[in-house]
Amino acid sequence: MSGFQCPYCSMVMSISDETYSTQNPSFYNPRVFSWNGDGTPADESVIEISFYKCPNCGQYTIIANGIGKMVRDVHVPIRPFSSAKQFPDYIPEAIRSDYEEACAIVNLSPKASATLSRRCLQGMIHDFWDIKLKNLNQEITALKDKIPSDLWSSIDALRQLGIIGAHMEKDTDVIVDIDPNEAESLIKLIELLMKEWYINREERNKLFSDIISTNESKQAKRKKTE
Ligand SMILES: [Zn+2]
Repeated sequence: MSGFQCPYCSMVMSISDETYSTQNPSFYNPRVFSWNGDGTPADESVIEISFYKCPNCGQYTIIANGIGKMVRDVHVPIRPFSSAKQFPDYIPEAIRSDYEEACAIVNLSPKASATLSRRCLQGMIHDFWDIKLKNLNQEITALKDKIPSDLWSSIDALRQLGIIGAHMEKDTDVIVDIDPNEAESLIKLIELLMKEWYINREERNKLFSDIISTNESKQAKRKKTE
């Protein structure tokens, strides 16, 4: 097994006895737990609980996976429950909460997750770009000459996938499904936009004001000595 990225501090840890351990609970007495010749557990109800301990921040990440043949549908993150990253408070709360909800339900309901990502995108276009038109389609069109064209195309794709999620397609009777990996990519795009738009703006403003105030204090000192 290669490294594992800590969801709390993003450090990649190497897997060793110090950072990783597993437990195997099951319906039956764990003392009679045994393995078949092919490496599968003899007990059909066995789940594997993996614990990761981050050597950098000390946080535990816990994940449950079904490995017995009757419970292989179990894939549950126990801690943290969702893969959502923590974004700073200067991003509006409504946008962050749509994003966190999209992360929390990505495996349970990829379609609902895609719909929330779409709403999150619309919230950012309203707030960050101050574009408010009749619908998201028009709003994204208005954004076209303001951002790089490859980014614009992905945003437009997110809009269309979110529509599939919301069952809002009128001109087709085929129900198209969105799988968790596709919904996950939309979440990654939202994360990228939070960074490219809000975080970069904040960092740029801070840098500019630092430089201006440094210059002001230097100029004031110079005047004193003149
Ligand atoms: Zn960590």
